[in-house]
Amino acid sequence: MLDRLRTIVGDKGLLSTPADMAPWLSDWRGRRTGKAIAVVSPATTAETAAVVALCNEEDQPIFPVGGNTGLCFGAVPESDRPNKPGIVISTRRMNKIRAIDRATGLATVDAGVILSELHEAATKINRQFPLYLGSEGSAQIGGLISTNAGGTGVVRYGPMRDLVAGLEVVLADGRVLSDLTGLRKDNTGYMLRQLFVGAEGTLGVITGATLKLYPRMSNGAHAWVSVPNPAAAVELLAAFQDRAGSYIQAFELVSASQFELVKRHIDRVRFPFAEIPRWSVLIELGSEDSTTDLSDIIETTLGGFLERGAVLDAAIAASQQQAADFWHVRHSVSEANKKEGIGIVLDVAVRTSDVAAFIAEADKVAAARYPQAVTEVVCHLGDGNVHYILMFSREFWATLKDEESFSLEIERDIHDVAAKYSGTFSAEHGVGRKLTEELQRLADPLRFELMGRVKQMFDPKGLMNPGVLLARGAG
Ligand SMILES: Cc1cc2nc3c(=O)[nH]c(=O)nc-3n(C[C@H](O)[C@H](O)[C@H](O)COP(=O)(O)OP(=O)(O)OC[C@H]3O[C@@H](n4cnc5c(N)ncnc54)[C@H](O)[C@@H]3O)c2cc1C
Repeated sequence: MLDRLRTIVGDKGLLSTPADMAPWLSDWRGRRTGKAIAVVSPATTAETAAVVALCNEEDQPIFPVGGNTGLCFGAVPESDRPNKPGIVISTRRMNKIRAIDRATGLATVDAGVILSELHEAATKINRQFPLYLGSEGSAQIGGLISTNAGGTGVVRYGPMRDLVAGLEVVLADGRVLSDLTGLRKDNTGYMLRQLFVGAEGTLGVITGATLKLYPRMSNGAHAWVSVPNPAAAVELLAAFQDRAGSYIQAFELVSASQFELVKRHIDRVRFPFAEIPRWSVLIELGSEDSTTDLSDIIETTLGGFLERGAVLDAAIAASQQQAADFWHVRHSVSEANKKEGIGIVLDVAVRTSDVAAFIAEADKVAAARYPQAVTEVVCHLGDGNVHYILMFSREFWATLKDEESFSLEIERDIHDVAAKYSGTFSAEHGVGRKLTEELQRLADPLRFELMGRVKQMFDPKGLMNPGVLLARGAG
């Protein structure tokens, strides 16, 4: 197998010693580790197709990996068959921007392009690719598509699903489905490419994508606002929608408990208030029109709220540097949590108007059932997406007899609160290996059955990322 792989990808594209493979065998937080025969990094779509065809012939499972920043263990290689550990396929050597077109507003890129590289390429032609998240310096386009990533720009531009205009995918048998024309209008039947968005590598290996670009916001304004509670933040969002709906670039609600950890663990963070507010809202407005006074819009919208105490304090960024400082704090939360202890992150979404009630109820459940935890909230409020986090000390965690069951118990408790509000247990992180049981428990049975049939059709041998999303045998 190794010799045949080497013939396809050369020495440069093949790692097979445990030390060389180690970074690709564990998840970002180092919580779960798998095994593989080799980590293969093809340089082209043709090489990827040849590797996948070989795995198909040899019945070897295939584990695609991008930047390995996923939070649900979806890129951890864990084979489900004896004596077939499988092959990790990394897209890191497929990292070219194939074409970028300002008038059409499209970029066609290799799957291994890192998100921040695409941001830079778009800026050079006065466009933006509006997907923004804390892992943008490592996460790759293929991984971002496979998890249908979200982040802070979803409120205005939608998640990755809305930004994909075309895909190139190596199917489980090694054939290549190429759909990169990026046509805005094309009504010729089922839009198959959408099935691969959020499929977490279970249907094929994405090797290229055509992505939508948007005008760059040359004019921006940022505010950090202290609100008394989440309900006030929801009210504030509605007021901003009335006054400046089409300018809202981000609207993020964060608890003091979360920002305290950023202050504790992250270097060079600057907070605009002497004390971290109990609840903060980070607001970004953006426009391509430089004549609109966005800071004035923020000030006038906040004015009435300040008068009646529905906003307690506010800082408007006075410079680009201060705006960057605001975002540095916001984007550092995952890093800070990783340093603090063991965080159980629930990636829940409910309707925006139910966010405050969800948080209040989740707080009650957490206090009653898990008094050892400090709870944190990081919420993309415009999307109703609440990252509800229970943070445990490492010392407490070490006393647990069965960490996995304990985590699952927490997940079930908080997911049940979301379900009460017709919410979802996975808003943007995906299912991976972490939440397969929750998917089976909480998904509509018909939807679950149909997903199993889709999987069966694209991957009849069950070689594509087995055990991820749908546990084996589902459907
Ligand atoms: C600090 C930090 C902040 C984050 N913030 C956010 C956030 O705000 N919003 C958000 O949505 N996520 C966030 N994430 C999660 C993560 O960055 C996203 O899930 C991202 O989309 C993963 O991309 P990746 O390239 O690292 O994929 P990986 O972790 O490598 O893979 C993720 C999944 O996609 C599959 N996959 C990877 N590449 C391919 C491919 N080419 N073809 C087929 N399948 C493939 C893998 O098998 C796996 O199942 C954050 C993570 C970190 C560490």
